Amino acid sequence: MSKIIIKNGRVVDPSQGLDEVLDVIIEKNKIKALKKNVSEEESEIIDAKGKIVTPGLIDMHVHLREPGREDKETIKTCSEAAAAGGFTTIFGMPNTSPVADNQTVIEYVNSKARKEAVVNIYSVANITKKGQGQEMSEIADLKKAGAIALSDDGVDVPNSGVLRHAFEYASELGMPVFSHSEDPDLAGTEWAMNEGYMSTKLGLPGKPKEAEEVAIARNIEIARLAGVKLHITHINTETSALLVSQGREKGLEVTCDTCPQFFTLDETLLENYDPKLKMNPPIREKAELEAIKRRLADGTIDAITSDHAPHLLVEKDLEFENCENGIVGLETSLGLVLTFLVHKGIIDYQRMVQLMSHNPAQISGLQNKGTLAPGADADITVIDPEKEWTVNKNAFKSKGRNTPFHGWKLKGRAEKIMIEGHFINLNI
Ligand SMILES: [Zn+2]
Ligand SMILES: [Zn+2]
Repeated sequence: MSKIIIKNGRVVDPSQGLDEVLDVIIEKNKIKALKKNVSEEESEIIDAKGKIVTPGLIDMHVHLREPGREDKETIKTCSEAAAAGGFTTIFGMPNTSPVADNQTVIEYVNSKARKEAVVNIYSVANITKKGQGQEMSEIADLKKAGAIALSDDGVDVPNSGVLRHAFEYASELGMPVFSHSEDPDLAGTEWAMNEGYMSTKLGLPGKPKEAEEVAIARNIEIARLAGVKLHITHINTETSALLVSQGREKGLEVTCDTCPQFFTLDETLLENYDPKLKMNPPIREKAELEAIKRRLADGTIDAITSDHAPHLLVEKDLEFENCENGIVGLETSLGLVLTFLVHKGIIDYQRMVQLMSHNPAQISGLQNKGTLAPGADADITVIDPEKEWTVNKNAFKSKGRNTPFHGWKLKGRAEKIMIEGHFINLNI
């Protein structure tokens, strides 16, 4: 049947200011219309009573690990993890092996994604050659090969001249830049956690928040000079959020995201040196966690990403100081947002969909995604907001088991996703 109707769901679509019970009519892979009480024959009917129906969720910051570290994750397993978590679109960061600083890697990832992935995957390419910050990549070629944005995620581009030059090219080509903002000299190479009272108490080397805040201030000023669309990823301090909003007040196209780990975990949890809690940026004080929640609610922070970073157990299960940074997040992101933000009354569903679908689409220039407006791609997430479940890392579709959320009880989970008119079996 070419026509599908998702009936009686609570449709939440901030692009049209909608939050009401409606039927979604899908035809030929596109949204055809949103109406009340449709009765049409020759349609496949899906009952969504009691469910939230949203434009497909988008995660702009994911580490696919393929090519090069297929032992940690593959394009296929990562896409299955995304689907299980309710995401219809994810963006792969370029720090693969080899890195995505050339057309071959971008084309490889995109063609493999078309063949093996169950969700939409877009590739982010390196700003600089080898991601080493010294020499600009062939940005026009990367765009031609299908890259959607630029980033040297993992590190910043410390050379301001190179960064300016890259921003100017990106601006000319209409590509957004996703910045991992971090001053390498202020951060140092030895840090294991946030610098402050707890790092002194635990005897671990710390990284000051200013390592990120100073870099964000610099990157925004260089963006002003070059006129680029700049997105600062994984912020976790109030100052960082305010620097971005001050940039916007000056008329710049600057946006930012944070991750679920930064509104659910604070550094007092590090008391028992659990390597699963080590990440970059590091988890901060409780006061910053509370500030991040406020800044998600008041519109200062634009998006939520997972920074899904699968690692092998042998790389993670080491002494705190020596283990790899990062956690997997695709399969817990939505549940954490629903449990700790929506059900706690900090944000409503409209805001959630802005943060996890509409704004990511806008920031990255995906005009036909992040919306259920007629004519848009039929990418849809159907959420059971009341579903209670316990995070079980052994049931993850991701190869990564490095999560600090194992055993957490969450409320709310994706029940179905549709990609361009086709339902995907979540198998959860
Ligand atoms: Zn990063
Ligand atoms: Zn990352």
